[in-house]
Amino acid sequence: MTEPADHILLLAGTREARLLAKKLVETFPDVRITASFAGAVDNLPDLGVPTRVGGFGGVAGLTDYLVNEKVTLLVDATHPFAAQMSGNAVFAARSLNLPLIRLERPAWTPESGDLWQSVVSLGEAADALPAQARAFLAIGRKDLHRFTHRTDIFALARMIEPPELPLPGHWQLVLGRPPLSASEEIALFRKHRITHVVAKNSGGRRSHAKIEAARQLGLPVIMVDRPKLAETELATSVEDALRKINLEIVSDF
Ligand code: NAP
Repeated sequence: MTEPADHILLLAGTREARLLAKKLVETFPDVRITASFAGAVDNLPDLGVPTRVGGFGGVAGLTDYLVNEKVTLLVDATHPFAAQMSGNAVFAARSLNLPLIRLERPAWTPESGDLWQSVVSLGEAADALPAQARAFLAIGRKDLHRFTHRTDIFALARMIEPPELPLPGHWQLVLGRPPLSASEEIALFRKHRITHVVAKNSGGRRSHAKIEAARQLGLPVIMVDRPKLAETELATSVEDALRKINLEIVSDF
């Protein structure tokens, strides 16, 4: 059997990556597709394509992988805050002159009634919380350590998997994915008498309920801006990515 001419490496870890993998299989049945996960969470979703798990070993490791596996197109559908992986993808693709498409959902923008304070980093977000605040932290487990010195506040931290470090004794942990409805978030915020919401500007619908809940309750949101990433071709939706991938695959012949 001859090997397919094209091999797409899809850097995954988001809902969009999952949707895109499904569309890619349907649209390009003759193309080899490999999805890649960091392995940060235990229960990885089935993307319906062969999958590899774990870091590549920086730019050099990724470059080796791309060469050894004869990758012809790199698609970065990682989270907008996965800046290290996205940066590595740009540098590896540039060094090999390989096409790279980054699928990046649009950032949230404030609406009437939103009380946002934009900050450029999680460290700045931690500094922005006033003493005695009752903060809801929706920032993931990896970055929790940037807040744990703030023992003068209460925090309710929500994440999918437990943190590696212990939380200050009076803080509370909620394990699980965010609910889709603002009413569930409102109930949670009321129960814990939350006064501030800290969020990364992830964009998308999946984790937007907390922002709507904050608006409805008149709570300030400390919104962490996205990291600046090296420039590459951008797609803003799964459909847009599919169109751009189609152009790359067709122009191969
Ligand atoms: P990161 O800081 O940009 O990446 C750290 C390292 O993890 C990378 O240098 C790479 O290791 C490895 N890595 C990351 N994504 C990978 C992938 N898809 N396949 C193989 N290796 C990967 O990323 P992060 O913020 O820790 O996020 C890790 C994963 O969780 C990402 O895939 C992202 O899409 C997902 N995620 C992140 C967030 C968030 O808020 N950061 C939220 C939801 C989902 P090597 O250098 O060894 O190659």
